[in-house]
Order: sequence, then C-alpha cells, then structure tokens
Amino acid sequence: MISIESVPDASGHFGPYGGMFVPETLMTALQELEREYRAAVADPAFQSELDGLLKNFCGRPTPLYFSERLTGKLGGAKIYLKREDLLHTGAHKINNAIGQILLARRMGKTRIIAETGAGQHGVATATAAARFGLECVIYMGAVDMERQALNVARMKFLGAKVVAVTAGQATLKEAINEAMRDWVTNVRTTHYILGSALGSHPYPMIVRDFHKVIGEETKRQILEREGRLPDQLVACVGGGSNAIGFFHAFLGDAAVRLTGVEAGGEGITRGRHAARFQGGKLGVLQGTKTWLLADDDGQIELTHSVSAGLDYAAIGPEHSYYRDQGRITYDFATDDEALAAFRTLAEVEGIIPALESAHAIAHVIKIAPSLPKESIVIANLSGRGDKDVQQVAEMLL
Ligand SMILES: *Cc1c(COP(=O)(O)O)cnc(C)c1O
Repeated sequence: MISIESVPDASGHFGPYGGMFVPETLMTALQELEREYRAAVADPAFQSELDGLLKNFCGRPTPLYFSERLTGKLGGAKIYLKREDLLHTGAHKINNAIGQILLARRMGKTRIIAETGAGQHGVATATAAARFGLECVIYMGAVDMERQALNVARMKFLGAKVVAVTAGQATLKEAINEAMRDWVTNVRTTHYILGSALGSHPYPMIVRDFHKVIGEETKRQILEREGRLPDQLVACVGGGSNAIGFFHAFLGDAAVRLTGVEAGGEGITRGRHAARFQGGKLGVLQGTKTWLLADDDGQIELTHSVSAGLDYAAIGPEHSYYRDQGRITYDFATDDEALAAFRTLAEVEGIIPALESAHAIAHVIKIAPSLPKESIVIANLSGRGDKDVQQVAEMLL
C-alpha cells in the first residue's frame, strides 16, 4: 500500500528522485515559495479565493463525458473523457497558473515570468497575470513560436512580452534555461510560474497539488454516473502535470490501473522521440533528478514529437517514483498514432483534441477493443486542438 501523502519528503525527494539542484542564488526564493505555499494551503481565505476563481473564471468543474460513439466504434470498454479541454484558455494549465498567481501576490511579487512549449502554459500565465494586473514575460523557443503562432498572438493580446529563445534546439528545454536565468537576476521582484510537475522542489509538489482537482472531480463524477470506480485511467505525459493531477486521487485504489502515455515521435530511435522511459536513464536536468534522455557522456539528447507540449527530455520526478513502485505504468504513442487519434476523435465525437491529448486517445484506441464491454476507461482530455489545427492541416489536408 502506497502512502500517497509521504512524497515528497521534507527535502523535496520522491524516493531517489526530485530534490533541489539549483544555483545558490535561487535557494532563498525556493524556500520562500515553499513557506508561502504551506501557509496558503492552511489559510481558508486562500482556498476560497482559489475555489471561486476555478469555478467562475476557469470553468470548473469540467464535465466527465461518456464518449458514446467512440465506445461503439471500438466495440470494447466504455470510454469516458475528462473534459479539461473545456477550461478557460483551452487546457488544464490554467489550474496551476491561477494557483501560482495567488502565491505570487501573497509574496508581494510584481513581475511574472514563465517558459512555454506549445504555448498553452504561456497563454494560461499571461491570462492569470492580466487578471491580476501583473507584468508578464514569457520565454518560448523560436521553433515552438513558429509551430504555435496562434498562441504567440494570444499571449501578446493578453499583454505579455514573448521572448524568442534561439539557443540549442530552440524548444522547451532552452526556454526553461532562459526563464531560470531571468529569475536568478530578478528574483526579488519576480515569481517564476513553472508550468509542469518538473524542476526543483517545491515546484513538482505545488504544480501537482494545483492539478489534483482533476482527479478529485473525476472520482466523484464516475461514482455518481456508474456507482463504481473505473478500471483504467489514461493520460499523456510531457512533464507530467495533467497526468499526476488526474491520477492522484486514485493512487490508493489499487484496482484502478493508471497509464501514462509518452511521445513516441517517429519511433524509439535516439533523437527521434521524447519517451523518457524508453531508453532513458537517471540524471539531473533543470533542478531535479529524474529519468531523462541523455547519451553515454550525460549530454541531453535531441527529442522529437509532433506535439510541442510533450517534446521535453525529462519527466517529472514523481512519475519516476511511481514507475519504480509499479503503481503507474508507461507506454508511448507515435506521431502517426496521435495524428490518427486526432482525426478519429474529431470525426467520431465532434471534439478536436490537442495533439498532446491525442496521445492518450491513441492509447485508448489501442486497448479498448480487447477489453470487456462492462469495463470503464477514462482518458484525460488535457486540452483542445485549436492551437494545432494549422499545423495538422499542413500535414494531413
Ligand atoms: C502542456 C500540455 C501537456 C503536457 O504537459 P503535462 O505537464 O505533461 O501535462 C499535455 N496536454 C496539453 C493540452 C498541454 O497543453
């Protein structure tokens, strides 16, 4: 039996994973953040302001939708979708951005920075900053800015400054490096809203906690609808925030199988995918010890995914921990499988999923046909596909 409240420990570790691998100059800020976070969650006024914003600004609770036609088409398990795609700004990211903006305000910070891959975290952060009238700077890889032009425009309309990062692969990893550089320089006035369950302690804990609402709602909703727990939950895993938020309320329910789906890219060949548990190794990247894709000299390898939000060399430390425990299993879906799932969900259900979420749907399409008709599978639909329409149109139409 896993004690779900035992991680992270006081030093920020999930078993051998996690920790605080950061420059000395950031230690004080991270300790201040943890202190303020612990005070905030114990403060009923904080909780009620957060609950009010999640409800009235973000649109929680999100529906649990019975995917009737996909279920019929696949001919096996009953498939439900948790509709995080219906949240304000179009993905689960807003849960964390709103939570962290309230922490920033408590700490008296006047300037917000963030990194973004697909642009969804940048949009969520720019939205939260606009809502509270705070200055906002978003770091984004130049390659991602090109494939996610719509989100770049959204951030600009929301009043954020978007800084193009051209170093290295010019994607998410380099954007995080730049955001950390900014934070070291401006730490007194600035809060860094990290966008996934990644990085140095206390971020993996804080981001997870702000997303736990996804699984808590799901549990209540499925018990209401079906009178029992589901057999399986499926979520895509980039850094791992939507997955850990979705899974967390079910970790203690041993009969519920939990599966995280990584980006298999063009297949499991070095440099052509972002599936850290397929050929990855233990290492330290951007503040945390976890599984990552590196070569024999420890150099971070190139990654690839059709979906910018899953295109990152490391996985959140809590995922590495539950994988060791055997509590969460991990699989992958390739670009082609995700693109096929993107089309299928659009045609069969009238829902265009984010390419990230399409990886979870691809896994459901693989497993559902051979499962008994009375079994229940719930996929987390982490976001909507509007941001991806132009990219996919260029590939498929
Ligand atoms: C950012 C993003 C992801 C990947 O991030 P996680 O932290 O792994 O959840 C998945 N889906 C959508 C829609 C996203 O925007």
